[in-house]
Amino acid sequence: MKKLILILGDQLDLKGAALRGFDFKTDEVIMVESMHEAQYVWTHQAKIVLFLSAMRHFANNLKELSYPLSYIQNSPLSIIAVLKEKLVDKKFTHLICIEPGEWRLKQQIEELARDVSINLEMREDDHFYCSHHEFVKWAADKKELRLEYFYRLMRKTHHILVDSEGNPEGGQWNFDQDNRKPYPKKGPGILEDPILFEPDAITKDVIAFVKETYANHPGSLESFRWPVTRIQALEALHYFVEYRLRNFGVFQDAMWTDIPFGWHSILSSSMNLKLLNPREVIHAVLLAWKKYSLDLSTVEGFIRQILGWREFVRGMYYLDMPKMANDNYYDHQRPLPKWYWSGKTQMVCMKDTINQTLQYGYAHHIQRLMVTGNFALLAEILPSAVCDWYLAIYVDAIEWVELPNTAGMALFANGGRFTSKPYVASGAYIKRMSNYCGSCKYKTEIRFGETACPVTTLYWNFLIKHRNQFESSPRTRLMTANLNRISHEDQNSIKEHARYLLSHLDDL
Ligand SMILES: Cc1cc2nc3c(=O)[nH]c(=O)nc-3n(C[C@H](O)[C@H](O)[C@H](O)COP(=O)(O)OP(=O)(O)OC[C@H]3O[C@@H](n4cnc5c(N)ncnc54)[C@H](O)[C@@H]3O)c2cc1C
Ligand code: SF4
Repeated sequence: MKKLILILGDQLDLKGAALRGFDFKTDEVIMVESMHEAQYVWTHQAKIVLFLSAMRHFANNLKELSYPLSYIQNSPLSIIAVLKEKLVDKKFTHLICIEPGEWRLKQQIEELARDVSINLEMREDDHFYCSHHEFVKWAADKKELRLEYFYRLMRKTHHILVDSEGNPEGGQWNFDQDNRKPYPKKGPGILEDPILFEPDAITKDVIAFVKETYANHPGSLESFRWPVTRIQALEALHYFVEYRLRNFGVFQDAMWTDIPFGWHSILSSSMNLKLLNPREVIHAVLLAWKKYSLDLSTVEGFIRQILGWREFVRGMYYLDMPKMANDNYYDHQRPLPKWYWSGKTQMVCMKDTINQTLQYGYAHHIQRLMVTGNFALLAEILPSAVCDWYLAIYVDAIEWVELPNTAGMALFANGGRFTSKPYVASGAYIKRMSNYCGSCKYKTEIRFGETACPVTTLYWNFLIKHRNQFESSPRTRLMTANLNRISHEDQNSIKEHARYLLSHLDDL
């Protein structure tokens, strides 16, 4: 037996399933920097740097541990083409890898194995709490697939925030209601900045390479300070639980101009690259809860994101692919406005969210869901174009987590397979949760006309168009009740103005 172990750029865990049973006498590890992976969507420069730098640091760890490693730098070939050459040349009998977090690559590796007649062992990624088998079993007898019930099961199965009889800590499973406050009127006040890591020699090299090679790709590298090693990721976790967790809960939905990170953890890229394990994140949070007597609402709210949402969307991705990638419930077909890539729009909410995204490759959940996501849904943009943007532009974007969040949650492209209603809101929501509207030329309370907030106009237009759908559910009926208070004449003006906006999206 002679095994080739493939480690992908988001599988950087020495304890991961790929290296289990490694035979130092016969086996070999391969890692591939394929330029194709940076180009198949128009990837943010910071995301390319993060992946390449983290891979190179990980490769050094493997070498220090004496693993025989082929590290292919900057290959113009696809990962599959490089693998094929290697498999044929060196007469390996087995190809071993962890299941990729992207359906495309999973299919291609399976095809390659058939093509070159090699034994493929695609191991499940046990980084996650919930296996595919457990998720499929959970989903099998459910009429509705909802996060809340899955999350409760995860809490009970893993004995997290439950008492010995399986009841939730604090008598409630969910403290979401306590966690939706805007910042005070004067702003967030003094925020503990997240820890940032100065680029070392390896990262500087990669930055220089990316600046030259991917000069026309979106985003900036001037603020690149992401953790690229496990040690840095652990430091970032420690820093978050010590200094920032305490305010995470209450302000997790709040937005403010030029405040890109708020009290968020900024740990998604480290977890998604597998530099951090979700178990150690949750363990650290539980310890800090006791040590600093933190509010249960903050601790539960944070744990729900990881033990609940992160595991849930992964389960949904593998359950619903490849269909999920092509779902288009509303049959939206418009192209993505050009300013999604440049931030050059007059809408302050979109400008701020997109500009910080271009600067850091980061926006927090509510910015992604209720600013850029909400607008894309209201503006009837083709879901696959929106998904490509999210996949390209966020440093933490891997398809298993990006696609269900974008297509499923933000765009309702799968018709509510795992959400009870479309997440749509007018400018009034953005005004309540941020200071964006104060400096915007548009006014949220004006529904049509030159100074009307486009989010508001398109929101009412969306409700008018899909009135029957919104009226049929008790969860959304209040929205159409509000619509019914608007006169027919005004509804016609909204429709007319919306038609104008939709045909001039690039000019907003
Ligand atoms: C349209 C859209 C696209 C998204 N794309 C991605 C993506 O490509 N990659 C990604 O990791 N997250 C994605 N999310 C989820 C979420 O926005 C990010 O995980 C979060 O903003 C990352 O920042 P943070 O680490 O500071 O998270 P925090 O707010 O501090 O939350 C803690 C952790 O919880 C997890 N988490 C929180 N919400 C979610 C969620 N909805 N789904 C899965 N995990 C969650 C993340 O691992 C995160 O690090 C997306 C959300 C939306 C609405
Ligand atoms: S007025 Fe409308 S477009 Fe302007 S910032 Fe507020 S929500 Fe955004």
